[in-house]
Amino acid sequence: MTSDPVVSETDAPLSGHVADIFSTLQGEGLYVGQRQIFVRLSGCPWRCRYCDTPADLEKTGRPTFSLQQVLDKIKELQTVRDHGAVSVTGGEPLMQPEFLAALLSSIKDLGLKTYLETSATHPHLFRSLAPLCDVVAADIKLPSAIGRPLWAEQEEFLRLAGDRAFVKIVLTSETTDDEMETAVSLLTRLDPIPTLVLQPVTPIPDLESRLNDGEPTTRVQILPPAPARLVGFWDWARQRIPVVKLIPQMHPMWGVP
Ligand code: SF4
Repeated sequence: MTSDPVVSETDAPLSGHVADIFSTLQGEGLYVGQRQIFVRLSGCPWRCRYCDTPADLEKTGRPTFSLQQVLDKIKELQTVRDHGAVSVTGGEPLMQPEFLAALLSSIKDLGLKTYLETSATHPHLFRSLAPLCDVVAADIKLPSAIGRPLWAEQEEFLRLAGDRAFVKIVLTSETTDDEMETAVSLLTRLDPIPTLVLQPVTPIPDLESRLNDGEPTTRVQILPPAPARLVGFWDWARQRIPVVKLIPQMHPMWGVP
């Protein structure tokens, strides 16, 4: 009598919850306009008031892909056109740390650059992954956006990221002077001081009509600061940080994902 081979957890092929894999132009931050492959991982513990990927916050019910399936898709996209990097984004990619480690390592084995987009809030998970990242796009999450301060975690994370990181802060009409003061002070304690990208929040374009159509959603419209206040944040941050840029989200303007 024969029996099926026993497959242990460790023998099973590594797999992850992946919301999407596609080629596009990076629409945010310092690498805006660079052609990248996006691998969007599902799952995030946060609920930022301006989140533009609400469908990716839960892992439950999202598709599962083996590592090999993800790599095959990356290779297929790379044969069509050349990409500056593979952006691993979310959700929060660090919520799948084993899969993320294997994915970043495999992307580098393919000869491609790795670009990690993260909320920069789990330094204990990031410690061993830092050497696998060529670029870290680290969001500083302000208490007005996320509902609580995360300064200590974010500072430790950015120290681990070192010169791989640039920092992005999303500015809204609710951003306060005090939290910006704390964020800028945090950045000035780092060596090197990272480049800071200030990104005015993008209003959800069709929220009003979706609400009028009776769509069940708890989302509310979050607006950017008034123009004078936006420029004022830049002027003020630039007094203490060598490189500060004001860059809105570009992909909604281009009409690409
Ligand atoms: S950390 Fe990113 S994915 Fe998570 S809620 Fe905030 S904006 Fe959305």
